[in-house]
Amino acid sequence: MGFSNPSAEKEQYATPASVAADLLYRAYLHKDLESVCDLGCGTGVLAIGSALLGASAVGVEIDPVSLRTARENASLIGVDVEFIMGDVNSVSLRGIKTVVMNPPFGAQKASAGDGAFLRKAVEIANVVYSIHNLGSEGFIRRTVEPCTIEEIYRIKFPLRRCFAFHSKDVKTIEVELYRIMCRRNGTIRLE
Ligand code: SAH
Repeated sequence: MGFSNPSAEKEQYATPASVAADLLYRAYLHKDLESVCDLGCGTGVLAIGSALLGASAVGVEIDPVSLRTARENASLIGVDVEFIMGDVNSVSLRGIKTVVMNPPFGAQKASAGDGAFLRKAVEIANVVYSIHNLGSEGFIRRTVEPCTIEEIYRIKFPLRRCFAFHSKDVKTIEVELYRIMCRRNGTIRLE
């Protein structure tokens, strides 16, 4: 199940299954799906997918309605995911190796924007997989410093009509998936 009543202000766009599968498969091949946190988990697709692939997974989300759907989705599928209601600006987590996220792009003024998500992600994890608009590389490089961008993949993102200002049923855009590594003193940081 997706967002029952998506908020444009919070930029609640569910990650399409094809995009979630692409992100998670790459993380799986890199052996990055051990302890995973999905920041801004919405209805939980990335956290639940990580758990299905064997990770211990946590999802953090500010919106209680989405969180309820996320919990229902996890129980329908029969996976164990810890869902926490919280603001990405203030949540504190330990023991996370990997963050997977599709953060708000910051197109709407009221949303926290992807900068806050990126800063929190590199604070709590060693590896980050994150989806952004095309051409975000410079912004991301500056935001995550001293962490580094290891890979950028371009992926197709079928955006389904979910807000009144959307004029087509499906509009396919291209987005960038970033793999970011957080090294401290030249070695990979492990808690
Ligand atoms: N990751 C989900 C949802 C992506 S939409 C998916 O892949 O389907 C971005 C999500 O970030 C929304 O659910 C929105 O409610 C959440 N969000 C926005 N600002 C937030 C904040 N400050 N803290 C936590 N979550 C936030």
